[in-house]
Amino acid sequence: MVRSFTDLPLTPAMRDAIAGAGYSIPTPIQAQAIGPILEGRDLIGCAQTGTGKTAAFTIPIVELLAGAGSRLAGQGGSGPRALVLAPTRELALQIAETFDMLGGGCGIRTVVLIGGESMGPQLNALQKRPAVIVATPGRLFDHLERRTASLGSLRIVVLDEADRMLDMGFAPQVERILRVTPLDRQTLCFSATMPLPVEKLVRHHLVRPMRVEVGVIAKPVAKVTQVLYRAETQGKTPLLLRLLNEERGRTLVFTRTKHRADRVARAVLAAGHRVTRLHADRSMPQRREALDGFRSGRYRVLIATDIAARGIDVPEISHVVNFDLPHTPEDYIHRIGRTARAEANGRASSFAAPEEGDQLRAIERHLGHPVPRAAGSVN
Ligand code: AMP
Repeated sequence: MVRSFTDLPLTPAMRDAIAGAGYSIPTPIQAQAIGPILEGRDLIGCAQTGTGKTAAFTIPIVELLAGAGSRLAGQGGSGPRALVLAPTRELALQIAETFDMLGGGCGIRTVVLIGGESMGPQLNALQKRPAVIVATPGRLFDHLERRTASLGSLRIVVLDEADRMLDMGFAPQVERILRVTPLDRQTLCFSATMPLPVEKLVRHHLVRPMRVEVGVIAKPVAKVTQVLYRAETQGKTPLLLRLLNEERGRTLVFTRTKHRADRVARAVLAAGHRVTRLHADRSMPQRREALDGFRSGRYRVLIATDIAARGIDVPEISHVVNFDLPHTPEDYIHRIGRTARAEANGRASSFAAPEEGDQLRAIERHLGHPVPRAAGSVN
């Protein structure tokens, strides 16, 4: 039974890096996954964002690549030795940050290969012989086609948020990428849900994987207080402004479309709040500026669409607002998982217009209970 990081066979350098990151005890997925990964097992991790799953694979990978007496150190010549595939650019950047935080001190160099950025800097970074590549499947595939990256020296491959990667149509790229990696690699697959396409992927590409599950899959994290507001479409903006005035915390707002994100942001700005936007029509530097500004507190409110906000990791989001209900119950769980991460408590408010009744019913069926109505809200 792993209760503390000292129960795990980690090097002193890694213990220091973990302490430096501010982690005092392992989260359940870390307690279960780190040991088997260090032993070289393939692994399926059923865990949603917010459970500490990024560090659950980053800690053992850094140890395998750099730890004293490492099996993998020095193997594979100068090519990359670990690859992490992630569905979105933001998630890829966050994973790379975790690698830098936990592995930077022992000289593990990480390169990020994501779309929406020019090739030049990525080519330069690849020439510095990184040990770890974190990539979105589309851009990595481009590099493979141009022969600017090669994967023949990989020892470990991670598929992060596999369900979302396949949902986004990346299955062909993921398959083709896996086909050019060595057969004797170690493969780790993390996914919040296990739909059939993910099961198939796992059956084809993992060898006798160990399965690790944390919590009830696809249920909201326990510490989120959920509230539902009934609102006509035109009543949603005044309602949001009211909620923003009632409290002070950092707020993440989800809208259905980019256009609506822009419109709501204009209204929030006009009401005097520090607000920024994150959606696919914004350039990569703009998206970075938005996320960094939200993280640092320069912006209190971030208005985002689902895809752009997937996996974003900002500590201390106290309030998630579903300005529009998401299309699927899974997206609802993911959205509200942005708040109450790790140890904190959080609030999730959802606005439901009459025409969103189907989505609301689907969410409540999935949760197994109604979302509590706001006081004074009809029905
Ligand atoms: P993730 O599920 O990987 O997105 O991680 C969610 C958040 O938990 C991130 O902000 C991590 O920095 C944080 N975290 C990861 N592991 C721990 C830990 N052992 N103790 C406290 N916080 C952690």
